[in-house]
Amino acid sequence: MSSAERAPGATRLTDGDAPADVVIVGGGIMGCASALALADAGVRALVLERAVPGAEASSHAAGILGPAIEARGGASLRLGQRSLALHAQLAERFRAEHDLEVGFSRCGLLEVALDEAEAARLVAREAALRATGVRVERLDGAAARALEPSLSPGVEAALLLPDEAQIEPPRLLRALAVAAERAGVRFRTGEVVRGVVHQGGRVRGVALEGGLLEARTVVVAAGSWTSLIDGVPLAREVVYPVRGQLVATVTRPPVFRRVVFGAGGYVLTRPDGRALCGSTEERVGFERGVTLGGLSAVLATATRLAPSLAGARVLDHWSSFRPGTMDDLPLVGPTDVDGLFLATGHFRNGILLGPVTGEVIARAVTGAALDPDALGLDPRRTNRTAPRGGGTAG
Ligand SMILES: Cc1cc2nc3c(=O)[nH]c(=O)nc-3n(C[C@H](O)[C@H](O)[C@H](O)COP(=O)(O)OP(=O)(O)OC[C@H]3O[C@@H](n4cnc5c(N)ncnc54)[C@H](O)[C@@H]3O)c2cc1C
Repeated sequence: MSSAERAPGATRLTDGDAPADVVIVGGGIMGCASALALADAGVRALVLERAVPGAEASSHAAGILGPAIEARGGASLRLGQRSLALHAQLAERFRAEHDLEVGFSRCGLLEVALDEAEAARLVAREAALRATGVRVERLDGAAARALEPSLSPGVEAALLLPDEAQIEPPRLLRALAVAAERAGVRFRTGEVVRGVVHQGGRVRGVALEGGLLEARTVVVAAGSWTSLIDGVPLAREVVYPVRGQLVATVTRPPVFRRVVFGAGGYVLTRPDGRALCGSTEERVGFERGVTLGGLSAVLATATRLAPSLAGARVLDHWSSFRPGTMDDLPLVGPTDVDGLFLATGHFRNGILLGPVTGEVIARAVTGAALDPDALGLDPRRTNRTAPRGGGTAG
């Protein structure tokens, strides 16, 4: 019997004198951004996080905010652009209200081509991006090196996307948690949610170690672990982990000013000279750690983009799990269970899409009209199979 099925008959836990309106499972960027947006809308949220806020992918991402480079169609571009604008506002708010810096910078991005075939692809990409109104400029190799002198002499052409940006994910996660807590959100850390409990098509709460915590509204934002939680109405394979390995180096002066994409990877340089080289995309389940193969691929890409990085000191390396989905689109919005919402599956773009996801969730929870750009993210598209666990709870 699943934990979700057991829970209704078990001990009822209380959530203090003023129970939250909404329980959020997971304190990554999706959980924290949703909690803050809900607080801004006057809704009290409680975040249940099995470790600490930002423990998983959200603090281990590179921090590229690339709505144009990552867009997969008009709605995804618009959502990314809106989220980038929200990042700029949030960075200002964190500074003004909490004296916190998150490293937000509209540094721009160069996508480079290292051979003729890639250069031809850039011509097509430029046309497609221009058609959507994105600011983009195509450069030959010499012009690209004039902007970024450390670029390889092998770079034949590049696209300059001046509006793309970067942020420092660990600082962003700390700022989101601080701002959310000050806005009235409560966090319970070290709290493992065993299942979501629902009955007769309506959510009743979440199953914790000690029993049922009742809630009329639950948002599951558990990243790569979302569809493993009992009672979440998704087939187990719908959300899955995609491991990414990153290497952090430092150079003086900073190797690049802009984010540089190419050769199947990227180099993201902070203004102080730290540079993140990424990344692998591996389906290895929840196997943590870095591998010789992964690191050598990442380092080969980085030194193809900037040969001088071969002499850079390695500061750190790590891996984490992007929440992938079967159709490569996030799952954001209501489920077939009344009162149960999902905010997950953002794969490579969760840092970019965190703020707009928070906004979409706040609108959905408060019953506002659904955002037309977010309709394609409706979790109900993924399957119509019977909910596991809590679906039969009595
Ligand atoms: C190497 C790498 C580089 C990346 N670079 C970028 C980038 O440059 N730009 C970008 O936009 N995105 C990037 N991403 C993607 C981004 O990191 C993710 O899409 C995003 O962080 C997902 O956020 P999340 O809140 O859904 O998941 P997570 O951050 O994984 O948070 C989920 C949380 O839920 C908690 N949890 C899980 N199960 C339970 C449970 N049962 N009970 C309680 N808590 C639970 C976990 O402990 C965790 O804290 C990168 C990812 C990786 C791995």
